[in-house]
Formats: sequence, C-alpha cells, structure tokens
Amino acid sequence: MMFDVQQFRRQFPYFAQAEAVVYFDNAATSLKPQCLIDATVAFYQSAGSVHRSQYDAKQTALFEQARTRVKRLIHAESERAVIWTSGTTQAINTVANGLIPHLRPDDEIIISEADHHANFVTWHEIGKKCGAKIQVLPISDQWLIDENALIKALNPRTKLVALNFVSNVTGTEQPVAHLIRLIRQSSQALILVDAAQAISHIKIDLQALDADYLAFSAHKIYGPNGIGILTGKPTALELLQPLQYGGKMVAFASKQEIRFADLPYRLEAGTPNIAGVIGFNAVLEWLQQWDFEAAERHAVALAEQAKVRLKKYPNCHLFASPAPSSVVSFVFDRIACSDLATLLAEQQIALRTGVHCAMPYLTRLGVPATLRLSFAPYNTFEELEQFFRALDKALDLLA
Ligand code: PMP
Repeated sequence: MMFDVQQFRRQFPYFAQAEAVVYFDNAATSLKPQCLIDATVAFYQSAGSVHRSQYDAKQTALFEQARTRVKRLIHAESERAVIWTSGTTQAINTVANGLIPHLRPDDEIIISEADHHANFVTWHEIGKKCGAKIQVLPISDQWLIDENALIKALNPRTKLVALNFVSNVTGTEQPVAHLIRLIRQSSQALILVDAAQAISHIKIDLQALDADYLAFSAHKIYGPNGIGILTGKPTALELLQPLQYGGKMVAFASKQEIRFADLPYRLEAGTPNIAGVIGFNAVLEWLQQWDFEAAERHAVALAEQAKVRLKKYPNCHLFASPAPSSVVSFVFDRIACSDLATLLAEQQIALRTGVHCAMPYLTRLGVPATLRLSFAPYNTFEELEQFFRALDKALDLLA
C-alpha cells in the first residue's frame, strides 16, 4: 500500500475543472472520487430497485456488499448491525426516537459541550418529549470532556450517554474508548458515539470500542450525500422502536397484527437510497488501495504547518486541538470572521466560518464564530501557500 498525494488527488475530478478553488472545508464534506461518479451513473443507467424481485439481483448484491464493506471498515459484529440512514443526523435521531418507549420522566441523558447540534439538540428535544433530564458535561480548556463531571453525573437513572468522538470545531479527539470504560464501571447506561468527524481520520474498531451505537455519514469520507450509517451492538439496535414504518420493514401484517422484520431491515422502511449505497460501495472498495494512516499523516502535517504559520500573526487566536488533528479553528482580533471569509472566497479559497452547528461549543470558546481550515489528504502544501498569500492580502485590505 502506498500514498502519493498527487496520485490520490488525480482521483478527484473536481481538481481538473477550471473553476476549482482551494478547498479547505473537508470537515463539512469531502470531495468525490471518480469511482463514486462512475458507480452512480452505472446505477442510474440500470433498471429496478433492490430486494424487490428476482430481476434486481445484481443491484441487491452490490447493495448488500456495501453493508459487508461497512461492517469491515468499522469492525461491526455483523451485517445485521449496519443500518442505512440519510446521515449522522438521521442515525442519531433514529436512536433517540427509538428509545422513547424505554425512557421515563425521571431518567437522565448525558451529553456534552463538545457536541454538534445533531447530538446536542436531538437529545434535548427527546428529553422534552419524554420528560427525561439532560445533563450537559463541561469541556476543559483543552476541550476534553471533564471526566470527574462524567463520573459525578452518572447514576442509576442515567439511561444514555452521547459522546462526541472528534470535534468539527477544533478537531479535538475525545478519549472515547477510555470514557466508555469509565462509564461501564459504574453504569448500565447505553452509549452512543457520534463518529461523523472520526470516520475519515481514525480506524474505528466498534467491537473494541464497546459502544452501543455509532453514527457517521458517507459524505465525510469521499462517499455520496444522503447516506449515513447507524451501527452498534445488535442487542442495542433491537431495542429501538423504528423511526419510520412502511415497506420492507415488516415480517407479517394483517388487520389484527403487525410484526416487524429482523435487523437491519426493521430500521430501513421504504425504498432506500440505492444509488447512494452502491456509490458508497465503490468508494469503500477504492479506499482499500490507499494507505489510510499515511494519508492522515499528510492531512495532519498540513494542519500543523497552518498552526505554526498562523501563530506568527500577533492578532491571531488559535483554537486548534493541542493533539495533532487536521482541523484548525482561528479568529483574528477585531476582524469579523465573515469579512475575512468573503475576501478569501474572492481569492478562490474555500474555508468555513460561523458557529459550525455547535453553538454551545462556540459559547465555551467564548467567541461568536471562528474561521476553520480542515484538510484532506488530497490537499497540498502549495495550496496552503496560496491560502497564506490570500490571507495576507485580505488582512492588508482590512487593516
Ligand atoms: N456530528 C458532527 C461532529 C459533525 O461534524 C456533523 C456534520 N458537520 C454531524 C454530526 C452531522 O452530520 P450530517 O449533517 O452528515 O448528518
């Protein structure tokens, strides 16, 4: 296995276009490789659905092959534990709504300031619906979940702990395996891990991690939009009341009785996003030829270089993770992030600005917004130079 930046970069037709800009918003969504486009086109040039009739066997085989590839990617227990959703958000909502029948007004749910709104808001709303109390753990100055607060918060009424794995704001990785061990020592609570950012940076071993639920999106790891994965322990997934009802999730239906199908189909009502799943199948096959760790080292090296350079600006304040990561959040004193982002966009630099769908996190950082660079293995040091040239010009204009 190897990793050559230029060779990897050539897999992405985006860069061959005249209008391509320097794309440093990979934490929002990654660029798409040619194999995804080819597989999607091939699907739309074919006929039929999946799991509906004898004639659709080829599509069905590809669709289920994707499940096997996801199982291998994160070392899930079985294909039964790989549920297709529309994204991390729907995966978390499937768990949260699915647990409503098991939640009582006195129960407690633990989340943290590190959470994306997909976790933070979802559990708040579920708490309101069934009367369960939400405990929000603080994060430290290194943006790590406060372990003492976690231990203190756990009690026999705690029904679920939702953990962020890697922050989309600062790139900070929570020691999730350690936190899960801590929780298991004193609590029966179910544990959900939001792996939306982790999936493209960390080799996840779900069984070693011992999480009950894990959620991520295909579009953050070179896959299509509209495909997410809910996975976890089959026993924990079986607890969930389906979020949706309809075709394919039923084993038996009569006027008197309805019985749901077994996993994974009981949580996959209706015609699925077949093009998305088949496209992701092609991406997962293609990904196997690249050295994942070497690719990640390259993305992290770009971020580390960006941090070193940004630190040289006396009015720049960094919110980057103290440990290596591929995300760098920053602000400039007395300059609105949106003004800088506009001037950078005019110079063909795409980066993210705003609250990153994580307002409690921004409140913790004490700023209304940040600028965020997030790197992927197809980015280059030349592009980083381009960014700094554009940044200097923008700062001159704003001075
Ligand atoms: N959690 C985190 C940490 C994220 O970064 C994101 C996407 N920004 C999500 C959840 C939600 O993912 P999606 O929008 O693909 O459902």
